Amino acid sequence: MRVLMIFIDGIGVGKKDPAINPFAALPSQTFTDFLDDRHLTGVHDGLALRADASLGVEGIPQSATGQTALLTGVNAAAAIGRHLNGFPSRKLRDILHERSIFKKLTEGGVKACFINVFNPLFFEALEKNLPIRNSVTTVANMAASLRFFGIEDLVKRRAVYQEFTNQMLIEKGFHVPAFTPREAGEILARSAAGYDFCLYEYFQTDAAGHAQGQLRAIEEVSKLDEFLLAVLDKTDLKETSIILSSDHGNLEDLSTSQHTSNPVPVLLWGELARNHPEIKSILDVTPLIMKSFRLV
Ligand SMILES: [Zn+2]
Repeated sequence: MRVLMIFIDGIGVGKKDPAINPFAALPSQTFTDFLDDRHLTGVHDGLALRADASLGVEGIPQSATGQTALLTGVNAAAAIGRHLNGFPSRKLRDILHERSIFKKLTEGGVKACFINVFNPLFFEALEKNLPIRNSVTTVANMAASLRFFGIEDLVKRRAVYQEFTNQMLIEKGFHVPAFTPREAGEILARSAAGYDFCLYEYFQTDAAGHAQGQLRAIEEVSKLDEFLLAVLDKTDLKETSIILSSDHGNLEDLSTSQHTSNPVPVLLWGELARNHPEIKSILDVTPLIMKSFRLV
């Protein structure tokens, strides 16, 4: 049994209004369950669920607390009394160091990895012990003392950059191949099969939601759809389960440049879907994965 977790920043379940919701504007194959007027169907024999991201705390859900909740099962917003955006605070880093899914799985003998590629500046900062702000996923990985992947791993097609077509890296002058969304999805599926648990993080969706441009937003959905279809095509769902979720809504409502309080999708494929788990909030994601490895 393996699990591939795909974390997509800033996507919620929104209104079926193509003028403000790119998921309604494009006939995507993997995101058909993203509209709030629709009965959930579960594409490609998967299961589509919805999860609360507000966590009982007033205000609009934010990234640092949402991601910490997603990757620990701890109500991080309640722990600090508010939703926190951006990078994790000391208290959130403490929660991650103690309860990160990478740490708990690794301690349970599960071979885990964070498959995102980091650029050389990150490794230089690590080596020289420079003060840099690390994201929730980065801290979660550090908590288990797991390795990070670099540009060489990308070139050898064993890890994937956060913007999976590599356009951003190429624009910065890195000599890396450009991937189509399909190629990137195939690389993720193949690489993930080498681990018991693998996390991939994508956050261009959240950036596109803040920017509010409809064309860019639709392009994001289209790219992601192609990427996810490739991942599903190239994953043996008898061996590997896939879980896709988010930390808060954003892209599904272009009428605001802020995050939204909409529920977020939890899409499941493979054994995780067949077991029909109950998911109420993003706090249920880490326990579900732990349970699938019989570590609860
Ligand atoms: Zn955001």
